[in-house]
Amino acid sequence: MSKYTRRDFVKAAGVATASAIGILGWPIGVQAKTGNRSKVVVIGGGYGGATCAKYIRKLAPGVDVTLVEQNKEFITCPFSNTVIGGIKRIEEITHKYDKLKQRHGVDVIHDLATEIDATKKTVKLKSGKTLGYDKLIVSPGIEFVWNKIAAYDEKASEIFPHAWKAGPQTLLLRRQLEGMKDGGTVIITAPADPYRCPPGPYERACLIANYFKQHKPKSKIIILDAKDKFSKQPLFINGWETLYPKMIDWVSKSAGGTVVRVDTKAKLVENDTGFTYEADVINVIPPHQAGAIAQKAGLADKSGWCPVNQRTFESTLHKDVHVIGDSALAGEMPKSAYAAGSQGKVCAAAVVAELGGLNMPEPSYVNTCYSFVGPEYGISVAAVYRITDKGIAAVKDAGGGSPKDVDDTFRNMEAVYAQGWYDSTVADMFE
Ligand SMILES: Cc1cc2nc3c(=O)[nH]c(=O)nc-3n(C[C@H](O)[C@H](O)[C@H](O)COP(=O)(O)OP(=O)(O)OC[C@H]3O[C@@H](n4cnc5c(N)ncnc54)[C@H](O)[C@@H]3O)c2cc1C
Repeated sequence: MSKYTRRDFVKAAGVATASAIGILGWPIGVQAKTGNRSKVVVIGGGYGGATCAKYIRKLAPGVDVTLVEQNKEFITCPFSNTVIGGIKRIEEITHKYDKLKQRHGVDVIHDLATEIDATKKTVKLKSGKTLGYDKLIVSPGIEFVWNKIAAYDEKASEIFPHAWKAGPQTLLLRRQLEGMKDGGTVIITAPADPYRCPPGPYERACLIANYFKQHKPKSKIIILDAKDKFSKQPLFINGWETLYPKMIDWVSKSAGGTVVRVDTKAKLVENDTGFTYEADVINVIPPHQAGAIAQKAGLADKSGWCPVNQRTFESTLHKDVHVIGDSALAGEMPKSAYAAGSQGKVCAAAVVAELGGLNMPEPSYVNTCYSFVGPEYGISVAAVYRITDKGIAAVKDAGGGSPKDVDDTFRNMEAVYAQGWYDSTVADMFE
């Protein structure tokens, strides 16, 4: 396969030196010489993959980028809790891939990647097609570790939904809540770390409580947690006491929150001391691992996640394959949409620099995460990260969370900013 040379890159980017990438930022919209094109394949058109594909094209329009995504539309996990809580419709969190092609020249193929051959540098698709690459980026999100909670497999998730991949599961959980009687009980089981969206289970409890407050005020929510502490904990607990007094019970790991077995017929879950909890609606969020294609391709280690050089996201197990987003072991960064997008941009810079024979500029990574405690009550956390000897680490005093004691206007403004966050992250992937 032909290489996109340093000379081509410099010509395409309109920059003269390696450090110019860092100084000038993204060299946008410059036409590359054709006929000598490198090929990049990206597996997974979610927050990591779509962002990375788009930014490679923005950086180096002379590189051919093919994005392989199994679904025709992308339904975001961010804001899917608002659908479960009856605030938004699923159409409002569903997005198309058209503009990636039209505006950015990314070749989007809707197919399932079934095999990676890292020696031959090929990707096989379910349709039978084989794609060759110079660089492969893998961003398949997560896969569940089925049966780690005994009897919780894919079939059981049709009765006790996880709703942890947005789409039909989101709607199933919503329907179950709508069908539940007033005075019923909902259980949410939250997994041990690491998992995608650390504050997600607690935001979900809030937005279900918000729905119950209006429509089924005698109902209760129990969170059975495999942890003793969780993201934004003081802010959430403060919000529960303010907006939903006595409606949400949190059972920590030490208090027996770790669920080890489900029984879909008896509608119960069992904890690690043999105690059982019955409920009308049971939302099981099972333990995760890296996406299935990453496991199959030997990109994951014993932890179930993919070790990478955290500066470039190149796999430490397979050369010229980069892993980003939830599947990657990315130091102190959480598994979040914003983190995946930030990694997508760093990875795009690394891949383009390498294809052009340039040095990778010093990376900087960001995460911001908003959660709804109520539709007009938002909270947030943000952090900036740099590469250190120990991998990606948060920069001291370069982030922080929402303050605890503020008035309603402040919380309301954070909910408004959350919508801005959502719109801009989606635009960063697709627009
Ligand atoms: C309820 C919930 C709420 C959340 N809220 C937030 C939030 O408010 N803020 C935030 O920052 N994060 C949030 N997250 C986390 C966020 O959704 C993930 O961290 C993010 O989606 C990770 O991006 P990714 O690219 O790794 O994976 P994804 O975005 O999941 O994308 C993976 C894509 O790969 C595709 N794919 C997988 N395997 C293949 C294959 N073999 N072939 C072809 N295509 C394939 C999938 O179809 C999918 O489109 C939330 C998560 C949940 C569950």
